[in-house]
Amino acid sequence: MAFPKKVLLVFLPSDSGVDGARSLYDEPETGSVRQWFDRSVRTIIKKSQFAIPPLSLMILGSIEVPGVEQQLCDMRFEEFPAEKKWDLVGISVQTGMARKAFELADMVRKKRIPVALGGAHVTLFPDSCRPHADVLVHGEADDLWKEALEDLRSESLKQDYRTKGFPDLSLSRPVNKRMLIKNRYFTTNLIQTGRGCPYNCDFCNVHVLNGRSLRRRSVGDIVAEIERFLEHDRRIFFFVDDSINADPAYAEELFGRLIPYRISWFGQATTTLGQQSRLLDVFAQSGCRALLVGIESVEPASRSAHRKNQNKATELVAAIKNIRHAGISLYGSFIYGLDGDTLDTPSAILDFVRETKLDVPGINILRPTPGTRVFERLREEGRLLFDPDDCTAFRYTFGQEMLYKPKRIPLDAFVDSYSTLTRELFTSAQSFRRGLGAPSAKTAVLFFNLFYTHLYGLSRNDLRKQVLTHI
Ligand code: SF4
Repeated sequence: MAFPKKVLLVFLPSDSGVDGARSLYDEPETGSVRQWFDRSVRTIIKKSQFAIPPLSLMILGSIEVPGVEQQLCDMRFEEFPAEKKWDLVGISVQTGMARKAFELADMVRKKRIPVALGGAHVTLFPDSCRPHADVLVHGEADDLWKEALEDLRSESLKQDYRTKGFPDLSLSRPVNKRMLIKNRYFTTNLIQTGRGCPYNCDFCNVHVLNGRSLRRRSVGDIVAEIERFLEHDRRIFFFVDDSINADPAYAEELFGRLIPYRISWFGQATTTLGQQSRLLDVFAQSGCRALLVGIESVEPASRSAHRKNQNKATELVAAIKNIRHAGISLYGSFIYGLDGDTLDTPSAILDFVRETKLDVPGINILRPTPGTRVFERLREEGRLLFDPDDCTAFRYTFGQEMLYKPKRIPLDAFVDSYSTLTRELFTSAQSFRRGLGAPSAKTAVLFFNLFYTHLYGLSRNDLRKQVLTHI
């Protein structure tokens, strides 16, 4: 047996969006000025749009097993190192990039290197992954990966590693950044305080993958992690939890403990934070600079159609104003095209954005991801525009293709109204106005708005091409 065993963990870029949007239909000629321009813009977007390390692989790479060495290949920044000899290649598979992951896995296996596939897609669709893997890791891999590495060391890898329930996150599992190349990323300070979501939005699969109850790490462990991370990188912290205020007492304790560290941080929260005045104050004091909040819809009919019930449309405006008033900038994420939406919805969104002065209004088109309830419902209603039986047919793009037929709006009228909405919201002048007016993180707000001005232009062009020529 040769030691150490060499393991490569691979993270794949998405075809579009924050990994660098490109047209789905119109690749510029090789060597042309436009190709150079597109590439430059993609690189800037990748760097500035908060390109952060893949936390799941950071967690797995921090697991130490004597006799095994792990490395990371982040394919957003580098090619797969095909010339090197690996004892195991682990690939994280997301639905939306499954085809790419399978192609890479097949190529690696042809070289007689064993491949382990894990991630959300494996958990939801193991049968589609099996032909491309020697090992499948089902579910949250925190403990399973250690078992797999030990089996690799003793040359007794199994075909399947499964969790019995969810890992107990209150146990200490120190995360380190040994595998990361610091300057590639906007920040390497990623923290996850827990997993699971008690809410039930039908377009989301977090509650399916991570459970309905919140599992929390110990506050002491997180504070110790932040102290360690600060020795390596003093840039901004990013709390990746889907709703960092879902457990207000826990959040108050954690962020109260962080006040003396004088860090700056971004995170994701629900707008109910605007009604949690004590917690809001603690967030502001602990260095919270910007939050992403999922508004999804200002139409009550759409909110109830998609079970987005945790905060009421009528309370959103006041909540957002309170958060911004506390000095925290807000990225408000909308989905246009939900089942209660009509052609009047874009003007309601515009009014809402004007009234609340949201710093970045992100306009998304519904993505019926396989594995979510909305996917199943749209499949039953015959409204999907991709093959629902091919789970590699779904792909991530920056709003560049329609994946379903909206319920109350004809497709071409929907694309026209989406185009008008995004054109009105995103201009260079609006970007500078929002950047200057943001309560904090002004530069980030400016850059986000400028990039979105570019990206929404791309998405409008692609949507028009899709509707005119491909549907
Ligand atoms: S969208 Fe957010 S709040 Fe809704 S289920 Fe998903 S993680 Fe929870």
